Amino acid sequence: MAIELKTAAEIEQMRAAGQLVRQVLDAIGVELEPLMTTGHLNRLAERMISDAGAVPAFLGYPHPRGGAAFPAVLCTSRNEEIVHGIPSDRVVLKEGDILSVDCGVRLQGFYGDAARSYAVGKVDERAKNLLEVTNQALHLAIEMCSVGARLNGLGKIVQEHVERHGFSVVRDFVGHGIGRRLHEEPRVPNYCDGNPMGGPILRAGMVLAIEPMVNEGSHLTEVLEDRWTVVTRDRSRSAHFEHTVAITQSGPEILTGAID
Ligand code: MG
Ligand code: MG
Repeated sequence: MAIELKTAAEIEQMRAAGQLVRQVLDAIGVELEPLMTTGHLNRLAERMISDAGAVPAFLGYPHPRGGAAFPAVLCTSRNEEIVHGIPSDRVVLKEGDILSVDCGVRLQGFYGDAARSYAVGKVDERAKNLLEVTNQALHLAIEMCSVGARLNGLGKIVQEHVERHGFSVVRDFVGHGIGRRLHEEPRVPNYCDGNPMGGPILRAGMVLAIEPMVNEGSHLTEVLEDRWTVVTRDRSRSAHFEHTVAITQSGPEILTGAID
């Protein structure tokens, strides 16, 4: 399928969806503390999204291999969980945990999608480093998003940065185009096993959800019995940062980022 280009007016609508996602993730960052449940965070997000007249993008999302649809508004993935963790009142966060929160919304027909990994209270140095390196990798990829650049270059810069710090990048899940649908063409890998000068040429009007998932140990993954939660096979910890980014003539615009 072809990559859909968005008009300036459509990007403006996507910015509104993106800003709602940013507000939810900001609120979670303020709220989050040890002894809180991920179910509580899910309700906070649900309220904010519905108050804004938007629709949560993940709730009811069909299972890719025929299992039950996703049952929550947020994906909350703790420690060795990489992505697609299910929020619950039984999951009580504790000091030293890291928690990845992924939030998607649809507002007036357009999607926004972003994720952040948070430290719960005080975390060890290696966890801090894992969060920092993953976020840096995302921003390095975003900086590459100028008109005329090649998509494979994004994966290359993410992978190099992550591996330079002794971590590994997940291959089994990738970023994606986004717009009137949550997942559109193209796939946006966080690794590069081909020609770094290859892949689609980035054009003005493309909107990408770039989302490196980075593991402390091996890049291999496994899905838990709930059929959603993806964990590291070696049970090392994992971090995830994501932004929805529009490619414009004047450079990348982070639609889910802070607007000054
Ligand atoms: Mg996401
Ligand atoms: Mg995404």
